[in-house]
Amino acid sequence: MRKVYLDNAATTMMEPSVIELMHSLMAKNYGNPSSIYELGRQSRVIVEKARTVIARLLNVLPANIFFTSGGTESINTLISGLLQREDIKAIITSPIEHTAMLKSIEYYANIFNKEVIYLDIDRFGHIDLAQLNKILSEKEEKSLVSLMHANNEIGSLLPLKKVSEVCRNNNALFLSDTVQTIGKFRNDFSTGILDFAVGSAHKFHGPKGVGFMYINNNEKVIPLMQGGSQERNMRAGTENFIAIAAMAKAMEIAYENIDLQNNKYIKLKDYLVNKLKSEVADIIINSDKTSLPNILNIGIPKKPDNEMYLIRLEMNGIFVSGGSACGSGAVKESHVIKAIGKANTIRPIRLAMSKFTTQKDLDYFIEVLKKL
Ligand code: PLP
Repeated sequence: MRKVYLDNAATTMMEPSVIELMHSLMAKNYGNPSSIYELGRQSRVIVEKARTVIARLLNVLPANIFFTSGGTESINTLISGLLQREDIKAIITSPIEHTAMLKSIEYYANIFNKEVIYLDIDRFGHIDLAQLNKILSEKEEKSLVSLMHANNEIGSLLPLKKVSEVCRNNNALFLSDTVQTIGKFRNDFSTGILDFAVGSAHKFHGPKGVGFMYINNNEKVIPLMQGGSQERNMRAGTENFIAIAAMAKAMEIAYENIDLQNNKYIKLKDYLVNKLKSEVADIIINSDKTSLPNILNIGIPKKPDNEMYLIRLEMNGIFVSGGSACGSGAVKESHVIKAIGKANTIRPIRLAMSKFTTQKDLDYFIEVLKKL
């Protein structure tokens, strides 16, 4: 049976040359990057080279990049480290952020006694800039705005520049969860468009369990991890320099063909939407035309006899998800689909492509969907 993996927003297959790099580093280098003798210094060089590569791709200084274990840790560090600042009194976010963000905000805002405001969203998950502006302009003290660049379930894109302008005009700090766009867009953070961003290697064909945070020069974040002075006191713990080097290589490879790849996604997505609309009855498209090129969220009408739809797709070799990956492996109702008002009527299927996805994969998916 053909197997088709269309869950690349959850994670991606590793790039073969990145695996090779990890193998060779693991075999040769084991020094602790903090050790001062040669073996340690070699590992330190690997960490700093990776930092330079990532900083260059984002057009920022290496000193602005801090390595972590991934998106979730970066988000927790930023949210806890910012919400405990005396000068920040409120956080403004949206109900469709990733659960790493929503749960961190809920948890740390409660501990540090900060106000949380959720913006309204439309049926495609877009926020209202006028509402954001109104809320911020009524605030006398500093706020933190946290809005994701691309939604991981429906792909809605945030107009970073416009949100940035609203934040700047109102003296608010701007954090964006860029996990789904790092390696997909030529993000240029040198313009001061945002203050904080995050990346996770396994979303762009790198290894799992490694990521980074971008922190604007001027902003203080109180570290989450205690116990060591690594990452200039921002993240205690011996650096996983093998994974860090692998992340930098995966990101470099992603950037080599970034425009070409996006054009490929746009064409494949158009093909998919047209074919779905013409060949599959009652299909609902949940992503809008301007969404992240590699993500398309669709829905089938909710009926009592199609509750097991994801399992039935899997039995036919299709690996997709109905929402974001859930740690327990259970199928949970998607908070994003609920927030866009569709949870009562549809069963969502998120189709997320990678550079390894082909038109034949999409044809096979449609064939199976029609059969079911
Ligand atoms: N933010 C977004 C938008 C994501 O899609 C994910 C992963 O699903 C995360 C954060 C968490 O990243 P990680 O898996 O590296 O912890």
